Amino acid sequence: SFPPEAVPQAPEDPLFGLMRAYKADTSSNKVDLGIGAYRDNNAKPWVLPVVKKADEILRNDPELNHEYLPIAGLAPFTSKAAELLLGQSSAASAEKRVASVQTISGTGAVHLGALFLAKFYKVNGANRTVYLSNPTWANHNQIFTNVGLPIATYPYFHKETKGLDIEGMKRALADAPERSIILLHACAHNPTGVDPSPEQWREIAEVMKAKQHFPFFDTAYQGFASGDLDRDAGAIRYFIEQGFELVIAQSFAKNFGLYGERAGCFHFVSAPAPDAADVTTRVASQLAILQRSEISNPPIYGARIAATVLNDAALFAEWQENLRTMSGRIITMREALRGKLEELGTPGTWNHITDQIGMFSFTGLTEAQVAKLRSDFHIYMTKNGRISMAGLNTSNVEYVAKAIDSVVR
Ligand code: PMP
Repeated sequence: SFPPEAVPQAPEDPLFGLMRAYKADTSSNKVDLGIGAYRDNNAKPWVLPVVKKADEILRNDPELNHEYLPIAGLAPFTSKAAELLLGQSSAASAEKRVASVQTISGTGAVHLGALFLAKFYKVNGANRTVYLSNPTWANHNQIFTNVGLPIATYPYFHKETKGLDIEGMKRALADAPERSIILLHACAHNPTGVDPSPEQWREIAEVMKAKQHFPFFDTAYQGFASGDLDRDAGAIRYFIEQGFELVIAQSFAKNFGLYGERAGCFHFVSAPAPDAADVTTRVASQLAILQRSEISNPPIYGARIAATVLNDAALFAEWQENLRTMSGRIITMREALRGKLEELGTPGTWNHITDQIGMFSFTGLTEAQVAKLRSDFHIYMTKNGRISMAGLNTSNVEYVAKAIDSVVR
């Protein structure tokens, strides 16, 4: 009933294929630089100490049960999630211009936003094409395509500088039809690690305002990138101050280490206008219907853990400390890798390793070099030359640098 013409064999997700190959490798030197999750200096998953504490508090609560959450999720979680992004003194929050819905982590938030736009982004000459950075998190392509929204790309990564192609990006945004949907990574761009500077964000906002584009922010690394929650939300806050109507997909996978708990949030922020609160109420009512038909209500445990931390001043401070531990280790590994490559006199420039930020770095290694690193050195990374900084530690960074040196020469 389902012949191959109807259901062709799909290729394996490249990241999961990479993970499998790494697991099967028996070399004691093997290094996993594909992994999209934080690892400590012993290459082990890290349960944040503050998450352990919140977990204990919850487990010792005799009143704890496993009832359903409301459709929009756990209110003490979603309200603090919005506050993290917008700041404590946000005019948008005070004016009731924010609708927040708890989702299945960041993926679910991107999906809910995509679904909402597919259904409602139709009026006043809206262009339904979603512009994605080239490159972007691979899942963006299929999430938007699945809901029937056309996708296009804007230039982002500059191959020569291994930094931002700001001119190419601005040109593409200016050339896109008015009122297009523009997906922006709020910080720690995946896969390149390249972020616009505050000045470049202002330029991007200016072009987008002139073309009345609709910003769709994806934020999966707040606090994990720089160690500073406010700084990593800077672009989002700036766009809201500029009066944009926009949406935000927010993940707590990385910054809380709650990967498998699927804690996330989707936010709609309406533009300042006399009827803004009404717009927000209407949008919230429709988001609730979409949510109901997709998942009925979101998963409870990760949201409870995050809410416990976000609503307690002492735990919050401890979380900030944990964020600095993770981001600090990653920044130290960037410095170590760049330092060793420069020490070795490896051909090329390596400043981009420390200029880039967050979990990932676009090294500029070619597909052939990536293949050689895998076959000759048991070092695993995606074939576009992206490495996860979290896979580096004080025991393997020199080995990795020497291996890169060898394949680049
Ligand atoms: N967006 C981006 C850019 C990401 O890198 C990720 C994590 N890989 C996500 C969204 C969502 O991840 P999750 O569903 O695990 O929160």
